[in-house]
Amino acid sequence: MSESIPVYKAVLYSLLLDILQTVLRMIPWSTEPGLYAVGNPDSDSPVVLTCNYDLTVRQVARVLAENDVWLVVAPSSGINVWCAAAGGHFGTHQIVTALKTCGIEAQVNHRRVILPQLSATGVLAREVSKRCGWKVRFGPAYATDLPRYLATGQKNDESMRRVHFRAFERMEMAFAWGFPMALVVVILVAPFRSNWCLPLAILIICTALAIFSLYDRIPSKPGITLSAVITGIALACVWAAGGNIGALLTALIFPGILVALLTFDYPGSTPIAGGAHFEERNWHIVVDAERCRGVFSCFEVCPEACFTKQDNPRFIYHSSPDRCIRCGACIVQCSQDALWFEDEQGQRIEPEQIRRYKLNLLGQRTINTEDQFIKPPV
Ligand code: SF4
Ligand code: SF4
Repeated sequence: MSESIPVYKAVLYSLLLDILQTVLRMIPWSTEPGLYAVGNPDSDSPVVLTCNYDLTVRQVARVLAENDVWLVVAPSSGINVWCAAAGGHFGTHQIVTALKTCGIEAQVNHRRVILPQLSATGVLAREVSKRCGWKVRFGPAYATDLPRYLATGQKNDESMRRVHFRAFERMEMAFAWGFPMALVVVILVAPFRSNWCLPLAILIICTALAIFSLYDRIPSKPGITLSAVITGIALACVWAAGGNIGALLTALIFPGILVALLTFDYPGSTPIAGGAHFEERNWHIVVDAERCRGVFSCFEVCPEACFTKQDNPRFIYHSSPDRCIRCGACIVQCSQDALWFEDEQGQRIEPEQIRRYKLNLLGQRTINTEDQFIKPPV
């Protein structure tokens, strides 16, 4: 007879795994893609699809525990939704493949799937429908809003669509960036100066906490700012402790270089931060009044709630351009090609380029020219 694990042990294990996957989130943590039953779903139950980043899958399953839902886990290389969608690891091809192969089609009598809103920058909803007959709806930005979204007849109000960067999320990100840096520094410094390890680790984590707390007020590229602040504090500490030139150089090189390297992709790593690349060209969204048919897909997927609807005649205004992070989700989803990026000189990035090359203007994103949706369906 198999023994069941005591509840407290399961909770403790889950908590420890959450902490580990949060502080080491730069490492891909995968769940096996496939079909999972949450509660007791039947043929009419909603189908929710997410990436195969283990932390996300467990969070989604946890928040939906009181519901009866089919959960499809699609491959995203073990990366979270936002980064995987923007980087070309969680796109149309992965969604179609998951829906066609996981067995969901034999379980339900409908073809409607709810995707995370933050996947809209990489998943072309109408192409999914064309390729496999499944109708995509973009759900809330946060998994925690899924039960409310389902309970309100799958209506996404602004509080569910808009991404925030609340204190808890800032703390999570601070540890996610600070902990691996501290770990690397400790490993490198320990053989030479073991008594420095703890102060340096505390210094790096405290600085990361300070940077993320003051995130909105830090000018220029945060990666460089972070490096400069940490290096400056480290130098001051070593100097105050009577360190020699070697110690000063160590303090200068290790935190400075490591932080600069590890934070290189910092802009765009959270959906409230636009990429710092090409900032001087001021790429901005343009709405073509002639082409816009008021379908409002752009409105539904914008994580910054930059758009305002007009109902008669139907039209959309890009009313809060200052909030735009240039993720390109609105351009990807617009069926009329009525949106594009344009710079100060009037040069455009056409919608087809954005879709084909995942050419959002976030951080250092890979441009995945191998994406299958530009090839004929097989
Ligand atoms: S810009 Fe495109 S997606 Fe937005 S309302 Fe107009 S037609 Fe619809
Ligand atoms: S590019 Fe700007 S306007 Fe378009 S969805 Fe992203 S944040 Fe919203």
